[in-house]
Amino acid sequence: MKSLALLHASQLVTLAGPKRPRVGAEMSELGIIRDGGILIRDGRIAIIGPRAEIEKKAAGAEIVDLGGRVVLPGFVDAHTHLVFAGNRIDDFERRARGETYEQIAKAGGGIWSTVEKTRAATEADLFAQAKKHAEWFLKCGTTTVEAKSGYGLTVEDELKILRVMRQLNRETPFEVVSTFLGAHAVPRDSPGEKYVDLVINEMLPRVAKEKLAEFCDVFCERGYFDVEQSRKILSAAKQLGLKLRGHVDQLTNSGGAKLMAELGAATADHLEKTDEQGIAALKNANVQPVLLPGSVYALGSTSYPRAREMIEAGLAVVLATDFNPGSSPTPSMPMVLSLACTQMKMSPPEAITASTINAAYSLNRDDIGSLEPGKAANVAIFDCEDYRELAYWFGFPQTHAVFVRGKQISF
Ligand SMILES: [Zn+2]
Repeated sequence: MKSLALLHASQLVTLAGPKRPRVGAEMSELGIIRDGGILIRDGRIAIIGPRAEIEKKAAGAEIVDLGGRVVLPGFVDAHTHLVFAGNRIDDFERRARGETYEQIAKAGGGIWSTVEKTRAATEADLFAQAKKHAEWFLKCGTTTVEAKSGYGLTVEDELKILRVMRQLNRETPFEVVSTFLGAHAVPRDSPGEKYVDLVINEMLPRVAKEKLAEFCDVFCERGYFDVEQSRKILSAAKQLGLKLRGHVDQLTNSGGAKLMAELGAATADHLEKTDEQGIAALKNANVQPVLLPGSVYALGSTSYPRAREMIEAGLAVVLATDFNPGSSPTPSMPMVLSLACTQMKMSPPEAITASTINAAYSLNRDDIGSLEPGKAANVAIFDCEDYRELAYWFGFPQTHAVFVRGKQISF
């Protein structure tokens, strides 16, 4: 592969720093290089620094003039439900008209409608739709996502979803880190305890044997999987070598954050209702909180998680979209940055750290999330001069170009 020199960035937001998730004041240190450049070789960052320095070393390289734009590492979205069939536009209209979740479910909507459509879809259909979703993410500047199964809820349908993720990794430049979320909802056609047994005894061993996921997740919530059931499922996953994430404390403060701390999970996600004891438990166990303001917004709620307290407690906060057809139909990390700053009072640099380097570490990836020599050349270029404009101007795309492992993505 030819080498490539990207020159004339108004701000190169490198996120260079210690090789671990950033906490406290470190979350505001972005390592910005003004009038910067990057030399890329074989898909990796060879040198990064002031433009004049890179220009001197760029002999023979293809030159790309960035025209004074902002350059960031590609966003890393550490919580998405990327693979599903159809959409929930009718639910969206019903909610807008004031109907409750129960009314919507009764009318044939809700998560179960997505499960039915996803079960009915062929693997090829699901792949085609997931590929479209992947293009949306790339257009927003996101180059890696974590993606969860959870709309199949049978052995074969869960495996089908995970295989679609593997195919995306193999056949597209988009990078997917797979999570098994068989315990997303209790299927209508199976009682709770029996379904928990199915997840533990049949689904998890297949997922592990076929190496279809790196992480296991559960929806720990009243009416879904309680703390005891969640502990059982996640403990079984851990024994099989999977790392853990969890949907916890979203609707009620039910001890989910403490459970994730007890199990040594990589992340505890949502946390809208987590209190100071939950925050302290996460801190003691070094669990990273993944905050999902897009779902709070799209559900018309104002119950945002306590981001400031978490940062002040020293937690390595992560921001993600929670992209899904029901509660957070957005692939846009810039939208999430806007929500983080306006609704959760995170500063723009904290929000950038949470959606890049901290997100990468939460996925156990040390070669993405910052622009440093040796890392993958996953680069997002935006039509603005100051990175804060990404969170400031909201509701329209500012993406100019995206490179994954040194190759420009066309869209
Ligand atoms: Zn989710």
